[in-house]
Amino acid sequence: MHQSQIDQLRDAPIETPMMIIGGQPVLAISGKTLPVISPIDGQEIAQIPDAGTGDVDLAVAAARRSFEGAIWAGLAPAARKSVLLKWADLIEANALELAVLGVRDNGTEISMAYKAEPFSAIGTIRYYAEAIDKVYGEVAPTGPDTLGMILREPVGVVAAIVPWNFPMMIAAWKIAPALASGNSVVVKPSEMASLTVMRMVALALEAGLPDGVLNVVTGTGAVAGQALARSMDVDALAFTGSGGVGRQLMEYAAQSNLKRVFLELGGKSPHIVFDDCADLDKAATAVVNGIFRNAGQVCIAGSRLIVQRSIHDVFVKKITKLAAKMRVGDPLNMTTQVGALNSELHMQRVLDVITGAHSIETGGERIHADTGGFYIAPTIISGVTEDDLLFKEEIFGPILTVTAFDDEADAIRLANNTELGLAAGVWTDNLSRAHRMVAAVRAGVVHVNTFGGADNTVPLGGYKQSGNGQDKSLLAIDKFTNRKTVWIKL
Ligand code: NAD
Repeated sequence: MHQSQIDQLRDAPIETPMMIIGGQPVLAISGKTLPVISPIDGQEIAQIPDAGTGDVDLAVAAARRSFEGAIWAGLAPAARKSVLLKWADLIEANALELAVLGVRDNGTEISMAYKAEPFSAIGTIRYYAEAIDKVYGEVAPTGPDTLGMILREPVGVVAAIVPWNFPMMIAAWKIAPALASGNSVVVKPSEMASLTVMRMVALALEAGLPDGVLNVVTGTGAVAGQALARSMDVDALAFTGSGGVGRQLMEYAAQSNLKRVFLELGGKSPHIVFDDCADLDKAATAVVNGIFRNAGQVCIAGSRLIVQRSIHDVFVKKITKLAAKMRVGDPLNMTTQVGALNSELHMQRVLDVITGAHSIETGGERIHADTGGFYIAPTIISGVTEDDLLFKEEIFGPILTVTAFDDEADAIRLANNTELGLAAGVWTDNLSRAHRMVAAVRAGVVHVNTFGGADNTVPLGGYKQSGNGQDKSLLAIDKFTNRKTVWIKL
């Protein structure tokens, strides 16, 4: 990746984005569209189809037809594997173009998006492609006069509803294991960032995925998303997004066909630093990167710093210095460390949260407003107590709160004093303490002496109200397969 290549792509015209239903590129039946506003400069860069219930029904019907016709599930595993591997290769061949398109759509800095978007999706698709002929049923240890088999079968039609912060990465977390297991899929990206998912689906068809097996509909959550979630013909719904919408999806499932609903929701992840951490500089860098990259719009962002009182002042000084130095701005500049907030509305919500905060160590305001883009300076707010809303609610922006603790028990209590439980970070050089913290902190991912970083071999899932599903790893295949028991009398 070179800056000159990015610059060539930054203003490239965007061909009319089309949904793909039953293998055909289509616009919404109504002809309605939604504007795509780039957070880089607030300018409109494209229009996406604004699907209605009728469009969604067509997509689900196409998926159902392809599933019942067994045009995908009925293929030999090796044939399915080769299509998925080819799909990954095509994404790789178009990686930079996809990365730049995605950044224009959602504002993530390219230094992060390049790896986290196309290359993460490529890795995920290859991982599940390779699993196709390695995950299969079992023969149970029954008595000698019976044969008990446990078969794995695809659930049927899977709907995936994904957010705007890492659209390709998260769409791949759902689509790849669902397709690898033989399902047909309808994906609905966020109306705030749909362009790369639409391109990705087009590339799947180019790779040889049969028509109807993977469909993409775009539009609002309230209409297109709701229609998918209420569909009587969707067997499983895999969702990543906010807790409020997650709750609604469970209601829609209850009111329709009791489809399985898998939720990956928000976080309020604690980053806990003990005074026995040997390398406070390393910890400070991890804390700052752990909240401010992608302007805090990361589900596992370490948004609550919980730091031992004895090192509080020294540590806050270190992170404040680092945060104030971060390069914020044009996300298509390779040296940018913090890109844009996804939309003006989201930026305003984040700014509203800052207003009234007591002790702002750095940041706290919109910057680069002259560009028309949506940028907020990395913001550190100290003296935050457990009772503050700032301590409790996911903000999803470049805001780090700081709370001091006295001893290990206090740190655990603070860390767990949230209804969410997605991730956590612990910094200590005491091995026993590290193990005690791993056991005590109620979160789906606990990092020790590092933050972020993982790969497809390990699951990502939330404790408490951060969700009920698990993306990534072979465990994700369970979401998209039924287990059928076969009981044969010999
Ligand atoms: P969101 O909940 O607003 O939207 C997510 C998706 O749901 C979008 O596609 C949207 O169109 C759709 N949607 C909205 N209302 C709907 C409805 N009534 N019915 C059906 N679909 C509907 O979330 P967002 O703002 O796009 O994303 C940010 C949230 O996602 C944050 O809370 C973040 O923590 C979470 N997130 C979680 C993970 C994880 O792995 N746990 C990863 C990334 C983001």
